[in-house]
Amino acid sequence: MTQYKAPLDEIRFTLFEVANLEALGNLEGFQQTDPDLVDGLLAEAARFFEQVVAPTNRDGDVVGSRRNDDGSVTTAPGFAKAYRQQVAAGWNGVAMPAQFGGGGFPWLLGLAVQEMLTSANMAYSLCSLLTQAAIDALAHHGSPQQQAIFLEKMVTGEWSGTMNLTEPHAGSDVGALTTRAEPKADGTWRIVGQKIFITWGEHDLTENIIHLVLARTPDAPTGTRGISLFVVPKYLVHTDGTLGERNDVHCVSLEHKLGIHASPTCVMSFGERTGAVGYLVGEENAGMVAMFTMMNNARLSVGLEGVALAERAYQQALDHALQRRQGRAPDALGAEPSLIIEHPDVARMLMDMRASIAAMRSLCYRNAEALDWAAQGPDEASRTRGAERAAILTPLSKAWCTDLGCELTSTGIQIHGGMGYVEETGAAQHFRDARIAPIYEGTNGIQALDLASRKLPIRDGAAVAELLAEISCTAKTAAANPNLKLAASHLEAAATATATASEWLLECFESRRADALVGAHAYLEMLALSTAGAALLDGAVAAASSSSASVAAQDFATDRAILARVFAVNRLAQVPALLAAVTAGSVDMHIARKRLLTH
Ligand SMILES: Cc1cc2nc3c(=O)[nH]c(=O)nc-3n(C[C@H](O)[C@H](O)[C@H](O)COP(=O)(O)OP(=O)(O)OC[C@H]3O[C@@H](n4cnc5c(N)ncnc54)[C@H](O)[C@@H]3O)c2cc1C
Repeated sequence: MTQYKAPLDEIRFTLFEVANLEALGNLEGFQQTDPDLVDGLLAEAARFFEQVVAPTNRDGDVVGSRRNDDGSVTTAPGFAKAYRQQVAAGWNGVAMPAQFGGGGFPWLLGLAVQEMLTSANMAYSLCSLLTQAAIDALAHHGSPQQQAIFLEKMVTGEWSGTMNLTEPHAGSDVGALTTRAEPKADGTWRIVGQKIFITWGEHDLTENIIHLVLARTPDAPTGTRGISLFVVPKYLVHTDGTLGERNDVHCVSLEHKLGIHASPTCVMSFGERTGAVGYLVGEENAGMVAMFTMMNNARLSVGLEGVALAERAYQQALDHALQRRQGRAPDALGAEPSLIIEHPDVARMLMDMRASIAAMRSLCYRNAEALDWAAQGPDEASRTRGAERAAILTPLSKAWCTDLGCELTSTGIQIHGGMGYVEETGAAQHFRDARIAPIYEGTNGIQALDLASRKLPIRDGAAVAELLAEISCTAKTAAANPNLKLAASHLEAAATATATASEWLLECFESRRADALVGAHAYLEMLALSTAGAALLDGAVAAASSSSASVAAQDFATDRAILARVFAVNRLAQVPALLAAVTAGSVDMHIARKRLLTH
């Protein structure tokens, strides 16, 4: 089985040449981001995740987590040891706020570390992912006392965090949730209700688990306007930080799933016995605002799962294609059967994987970069611009990268032939693990809705129009280079078609809502392909204009040009054709739905 090798050259290139980590290093609060230090940190992270975490991935899949009769959960072999080492090495806190003991590095750098963690073992990485989201919510909305009690240990990873939104009748429709919160005279609350599908809701990696729970207070308005956020620790915490009584929150069962077997997906019962003690985070009925802080953070991380698993699947498929011999390739010499990589169709699949992964990585890293500008930009204008850009890129990263993650991990199986379908090679695990990502943290259908109904209308479409103008500018710059001319022409056509789709959606969203919603998925695809394609081409332009005349630099520029061309002909070229799906309207869906409902 192929061992994971962190693609450090790709990661460094994307950090510095596609995104601009160096520029972030000039912002207040990020000045410690020195390129040499970053290099050392990435190399050390690669060593850790390759050697300590990646070897736990297979056992995680085969053995998984199990619930014991007393309600405790035992994680897969090797997990607890690897996690202890991860906490000791400080990997959890790289991009966490320095005021709470974190490294204070840009989110962009944290995302690069997270990519390696996720490729190494996705099921294991979810414990840190959810903790990160919970930290973000408490850091933005928690009281100083809550921050003092919980944040430091969550930042180190000694305590983990969870997000408790989903209930049996409240999935995408969070506003339907019924978990109750009753006020107590001492200012605390008692939480009563059941949550389902709670990732890492119970486990043996940390000494405490800090649950963030959405619930309704008495007389709260219906729907999302009546939701409040509470922090509910597994063990209550004394003011001096020591652990107190066990709280009334328990894991009542674990789900059996298609993939991520090692991630305990828990049914959680709150307050079945005495009422779980909870503390209100922020204002009553303002839980949705805090929830969006958690979810936006987590949505980019979930998008990154598509990148990380496709990368791992690619490495494994490449390894197989360099060993397996079958038939004779068109230009084969000698009598020996050819390596399958010599067959043009296998080379096509591998190159499509590589180019698509580079494009997805570019999109996600630029998304993180926008978040950093939103947080630390030197003036209001740069912060607003960063926030708007991040708002647009987040549904693209989440939905496009996770859909493509499923497709590419499936391609990885295809390259293995029958050996990919049997479990022995491990290729199937990546595909099974990848399948959850389009579903959780807001399904990809909800992401398309978010893009079309909330993000596209920002400044009456001007924010998206500015992004498309930048994409067009990339195409014009790249067109001057003969090696990039083909990719540039596909990018220009993609940007033009996406601009037409944007105008159509903006125009009909209010008056023909159903028509717009049918087209939203294809629109997300158009904007994501164009944005990611432009980022990939920007990278190719940067590599081509490198001042170094060394053979290695020339070689690298050739490689980036090939990736941009492969992505352009395989993926970008489809963008203009998607316009038909955006503007088709809903009449056929309406008729078909009626027929299905009446037959
Ligand atoms: C392994 C796993 C881990 C999870 N971890 C967590 C966790 O840690 N915390 C947590 O709170 N939840 C968690 N979830 C729950 C997850 O977020 C939900 O499953 C997800 O939000 C979808 O909700 P649902 O399952 O109820 O599907 P539904 O909401 O029933 O959706 C079914 C289908 O209908 C579509 N749909 C629904 N509403 C709309 C709409 N308004 N417009 C368009 N399409 C719509 C959806 O896109 C989907 O295709 C997890 C789920 C799984 C399986």
